[in-house]
Amino acid sequence: MFHFGVDYYPEHWPEERWATDAQLMQAAGVNTVRLAEFAWSFLEPEAGDFDFDWLDRAIEILHAHGIQVILGTPTASAPPWVMAMFPDSYKVNENGQRRTYGNRCEFCPTHAGYRERGRLVTRAMAEHYADNPAVIGWQIDNELNGRCYCPNCRAAFQNWLRERYGTLETLNAAWGTIFWSHVYTEWSQIPVPVETGGVPNPGLDLDFRRFMSDTFVHFQQEQVDILRQVCPMQFITHNFMGFNFDQIDYFKLAQPLDVVTWDNYPRTGWRLEKEVNHAYVALGHDTMRGLKRQPFWLMEEQSGSGGWQTVGINPRPGEMRLWTYQAIAHGADAMIYFRWRTARYGTEQYWHGVLYHHGQPGRRYDELKAIGGELQRAGEKILGAENRNPVAMILSYDTRWAFQGQQNHVDFHYPALFTSYYKALHNRNIGVDIVPSDADLSRYRLVIAPALYILPQETADNLRPFVQNGGMLITTARSAV
Ligand SMILES: [Zn+2]
Repeated sequence: MFHFGVDYYPEHWPEERWATDAQLMQAAGVNTVRLAEFAWSFLEPEAGDFDFDWLDRAIEILHAHGIQVILGTPTASAPPWVMAMFPDSYKVNENGQRRTYGNRCEFCPTHAGYRERGRLVTRAMAEHYADNPAVIGWQIDNELNGRCYCPNCRAAFQNWLRERYGTLETLNAAWGTIFWSHVYTEWSQIPVPVETGGVPNPGLDLDFRRFMSDTFVHFQQEQVDILRQVCPMQFITHNFMGFNFDQIDYFKLAQPLDVVTWDNYPRTGWRLEKEVNHAYVALGHDTMRGLKRQPFWLMEEQSGSGGWQTVGINPRPGEMRLWTYQAIAHGADAMIYFRWRTARYGTEQYWHGVLYHHGQPGRRYDELKAIGGELQRAGEKILGAENRNPVAMILSYDTRWAFQGQQNHVDFHYPALFTSYYKALHNRNIGVDIVPSDADLSRYRLVIAPALYILPQETADNLRPFVQNGGMLITTARSAV
């Protein structure tokens, strides 16, 4: 079935309201909701003291209205008691400052204690919901992101380098540490690239970005392992952030998941452009489809104006519908809108949902209901569609990170160059697949690899036969540097 739904936070509202919400959802064609991604305080009010009763009741009401559930593991936002337990688990930023409590994603991804608390709450949830007929899948954490420069991460980085290079001689040669006499004689001498260290060695800088990405991939894998073992009948996903996000190698992060989902906000409070850049939204969809070369889901699709301290532009009448069909055209097999009802509290009280703060149906609800009706009529026909595109663009996170360390030219931006090629094709209605450098290219007529700065031998070995067999390859300056 086409999963059509909303992100719902029953813990934000009185329990008497839940049945009304479920009725309104059902009337709009909602058949799926995501729950509990930020509910750690309610699921485990104190260490080891789990409370699933409230969530059981919410799921039961939803299920009685024909609505299935995706559960989020709550590790993106820890309760104060978790962080108080491990004061050294706060992230240290690139200025060397340690974060404090108050937002979310404050944790250091290598911290053993934090990771253990994350595994414990994940396992408890998994064991409780493995056989619940309403629960169809899991979203791990939320929008994994960030980099940490703390002593734990520095030690983990040194171990990661030891595994990668084996010997210091190999590392010194790879990084060219003869320059400025940076020759390392002990692994423990190797720093992390904090700002107080000045502009770092480019090899060190690139490897640190790779290491941090691998760290989040590993952080996710710990939860994947638990869910695979305990809940083999339920799917596992993570909500990605499109083309724009660049801190994690999304091809690697997607690999162990059943399906890629992502969070699409064409209009947020941080950007107030009157016109939505539809090519850029399309690039987000194509990048997400490319991560596993299969249909993807929208786990958060914008339904109201977004923003934290400031309010963004409300989607214009018809834009929810436009964005829905744009996503489906690019390969989406599910649409879940953020969020059901606008919060009355907290940092996102200006981040509007389908319902206003007052909870009464309005224009955005009517639009949701109209889309729900259309998609119900379309039925299964739109599922699993394959985009057979003649053009592929190679996206390289290694290249992206290397340019972040050494921009080459003050006006050069790899994502902007990439987007300019994509936009030229998009505006001519030429479909594009976004692929990794090791993808099978034989099905394409044209491959564009803008500024492939990091070009390992394996990539060259993949590109050469494509060209020898008649394929057309476009590349640019700053390739294979
Ligand atoms: Zn750290």
